[in-house]
Order: sequence, then structure tokens, then C-alpha cells
Amino acid sequence: MSVTNIKLQIPKEVREVSRVLTDAGFKNFLVGGCVRDLLLGRKPKDWDIATIATPEEIQKLFPDSFYENDFGTVGVKTSSEVESLKVVEVTPYRLESGYSDARHPDKVEWGDKIEEDLARRDFTVNALAYDIPKEKLLDIFGGEIDLKKKLIRTVGKPEERFGEDALRMFRALRLASELDFAIEHETQKAIQNNASLLENISKERIRDEFTKIIMSDNPGVALDIAARLGLLRFISPEFEKGIGMEQNQAHAYTVWEHLLRSLNHAAKRQFPLHVRLAALFHDIAKPHTRFWKNNQWTFYGHEVVGSRLARKILDELRFPKEVADKTVRLVRWHMFFSDTEQITLSAVRRMVRNVGPDLVWDLMDTRTADRIGTGRPKETPYRLRKYKSMVEEVLRDPISVKQLVVGGEEIMKLTEKPAGPHIGFILEILLSEVLNDPELNTKEYLEKRILELSALNPEELAKLGKEARTKNAGEEEKEIGKIREEYKVQ
Ligand code: ATP
Ligand code: MG
Repeated sequence: MSVTNIKLQIPKEVREVSRVLTDAGFKNFLVGGCVRDLLLGRKPKDWDIATIATPEEIQKLFPDSFYENDFGTVGVKTSSEVESLKVVEVTPYRLESGYSDARHPDKVEWGDKIEEDLARRDFTVNALAYDIPKEKLLDIFGGEIDLKKKLIRTVGKPEERFGEDALRMFRALRLASELDFAIEHETQKAIQNNASLLENISKERIRDEFTKIIMSDNPGVALDIAARLGLLRFISPEFEKGIGMEQNQAHAYTVWEHLLRSLNHAAKRQFPLHVRLAALFHDIAKPHTRFWKNNQWTFYGHEVVGSRLARKILDELRFPKEVADKTVRLVRWHMFFSDTEQITLSAVRRMVRNVGPDLVWDLMDTRTADRIGTGRPKETPYRLRKYKSMVEEVLRDPISVKQLVVGGEEIMKLTEKPAGPHIGFILEILLSEVLNDPELNTKEYLEKRILELSALNPEELAKLGKEARTKNAGEEEKEIGKIREEYKVQ
């Protein structure tokens, strides 16, 4: 155990909470991630104080506080405008005894010593305590040395600690990823031996750590360790299928390596969560769709199967619907054709329609991550600019039947026929024409076409209508995608 004098910069709101506790005779320490982050010169995400006071005593001292959990944590509100400082969390020293399910302590008891509270914490770098009034750092488990060595090491025997709460294995990876630390050898070995205990852990808890890994600066490193230590299958076994899987000559890397490289680029560029997830998931179905043809591997339809797999996995991990929806759309359409020398505005319009105007630019970013992840250089600035200007241009155009200047009502009036499937067919045909040429979206032209189309016999109209629907839904894109894969062109 070591006690050293050190002056850490503590915000006045946190100081004030500590002072009130101290003045009332309750010993208290700053603990957990914030001490670690202060010593590393990083910005703490939240501020935790551990104290000898009970939750009831804490609440009495701070009238503007709330207590809504089983762990004794009282949230003390401050008047700070800074998000991370709005609430300071004050928790009684905790003792935990017995974990029969590798998940929940059987009971949580309040302790009377900071040493006991630190001993139940997960890693040495998270088990440092700072005495704010005395400006002293308390280090029982060698956390300071591990901070210097950049090592994640469990407090106590790793086998035991992971046996108590298996999520700690993911926390080790997450911290290594966020802090750019390595995982100490014995701790790694214990993860390898105990990975199966993660079956007891809720998907939500795994998702939270997984999200933090994805949002860190170098997520590929942590996921690579996850693969080596056998944790990857708890995110999804689908990823394991791509490990070591060779692709065609267009790819220098295996499927798994390519996904990690794409993700790392997305992180480097600070892309949002759904784009990072799309970078990680976009080729997840390649192992399912790999087919040997013309002396090489092909992956026809991997974007379609991949979008379904992504949906299933993200739902299983209980990702919010909005994040899952966006990721799935990006995976579904990541194969869009972008050769500015061959592409037409109508193809760009269909691309916008498919992925949705809200995600167009994210799809471009997903493509960039994909390219860089393949080891190819970025699109030349000229081609990229040209493609983007085409996107800008079509974003103003109508891309769905809702944006046609005529609707079902007008069709019924003009054709003097009651509602029926012909209306849908006519609308799809009109949209298909307008997608080719937005200038045609005028009442005059469309009304003329409605009369022409309604004069066709029903079978013929149905046939044309169905063709238009397939085309509008981007099936044509898929054809181009096939050609592109066949010729190994991007
Ligand atoms: P962050 O920067 O994300 O807030 P953190 O290390 O503060 O990281 P929290 O989840 O906020 O992580 O937890 C606060 C502290 O509580 C940790 O530093 C650690 O000491 C302790 N802790 C959290 N989860 C566990 C766990 N599963 N087992 C043991 N101790 C834990
Ligand atoms: Mg924290």
C-alpha cells in the first residue's frame, strides 16, 4: 500500500460535495475512473465519491439529490452547466460477498473502510482513491505502476474476479481500447479460460461495453484481442466465420482483417456509431455467400444477406431501433455503383432513394472506410467531388411516389375507375420515369401518361408496373454490383 502527496485538479463542484461530507464528519475519497483519468491527463466522464456515510445520511446532507438504485449510489445535483459535472455520484463504501451467478453480488453491504471498497473494484488502475482535502493518493494494488506501464490487471486473482462478474472480461478489453493499454498476461490467460462465463451476462451489458469499444479511437485492436481470447462470439459468432477467410485478388486482407481495418478508419475519422457499425458489419455475410466461380471467389448478394444478419445481431444485442435501422440500411446498400465515368444521374437518384436521403452522406463515409480497409487509396479528389456533386444535384429531385405532383386521388378522378391495384402500378411507372428525368414531374405530362397507361389492358399494366417497382427498388443496382464483383472493379 502506498500513500503519496499529489495535487490533482478537481472541479469546484466535486470539491464542494467532498467538503460537505468532510465537515459533517464523513471520511470520503474520489474513486474509480475519474482518478485514473486525472492521472492520465484525460477528461473524466463522470465523478464518483466513496464515503463512510450511508445513503440516508448522504441524502440528508444534500437535499437536491436522488437515490434510485440498489447499490447505494446517491446522485448529488450541482449547478454546473458541464454535462459530466451536473451530478456527482456519492456511494457508501461497499462490500460484496458471494457471486453465485458470475453476474450479481448475492448481497451488497456497506463497509467502513475505503480499503474494502477498493478491493472489490475490477482493475488496479480503477482501484485508486484520492483524498481530496488531504491531497493524497491511496494505492493499495499497484495501480500507479500499471498506469505507467499501460497495463490492465485485475485486483486480486483474475480467475476469481472474472468468476464473480464475467462482464469484467469485456471491461478489460474496453479499457485497453479506450486507454490504449495492453492486458497483463495473467489477466489475458484468465479471460481465455473463462470466456464461456459470459453466457450468464445480459446482452445489454455486453452491448454497452461493445459500444464503448466501437466508439474508442482504436477499436480494431480490442476486437482483434476479443477474437484471440474467444470473446468475439459473445458479440456474434458470425464474425468468427470471417477470421482467416481469404477473398479474391482485389483484397489483400481476409474478411475479418478487412472489417477491422474499415472500422479503424471509421474511428480515425470520428464517424458516428452507426457508420462505425456499418464499417464493421458490411461484409459480415461474405462467409455465407462465398462461391467459387471462374477461378476465383465471388460473394454475390452478400450485402442483402449481410443486412439481414446485421439486423438479427443488433436486435439480439438490444441496440436502439434507430441505430440498428441506420446500420442495416448502410450494410444493405454499401455496394452502390460509383464510377463517375459510367454512372448516370438516374442511378444516383435510385441510390438516394434506396438508402434514404438522411443516410446518403453516411453511405459515402461507409464507402471510404471500406476502400481504405481494403488497402486501396482514397477515391481521387476529383472523382469524389464529381460523385458528391451528382448526389447534391439529385437530392433536390423527387425520389418517391409521395413527391410526384399527382397522387392516387387524381388517378381515380382521371381514369374514372375505383381504387384498385392499377393505381399502384401507374404510380410506380410514373416514378420510374421521373427518376430517369425529374423534369417530367409536371401535372401536364403525368396526366397525359395516366390516360395512356389506363388505356392498356390490365395484364400489360400489371407487367409494366411490376417491372417499374423492381427497377425503382434498386434491383438494377444489384445487377451492376454483380458485374462489378465479377470484374473486381470498385
Ligand atoms: P468510464 O470512463 O466509462 O466512466 P469507469 O472506469 O469509470 O469508466 P464505470 O462503469 O463508470 O467505469 O465504473 C466506475 C468504477 O466502478 C470503475 O472504475 C471500477 O472501479 C468500478 N466498477 C465498475 N464496474 C465494475 C465491475 N463490473 N466490477 C468491479 N468494479 C467495477
Ligand atoms: Mg466512470
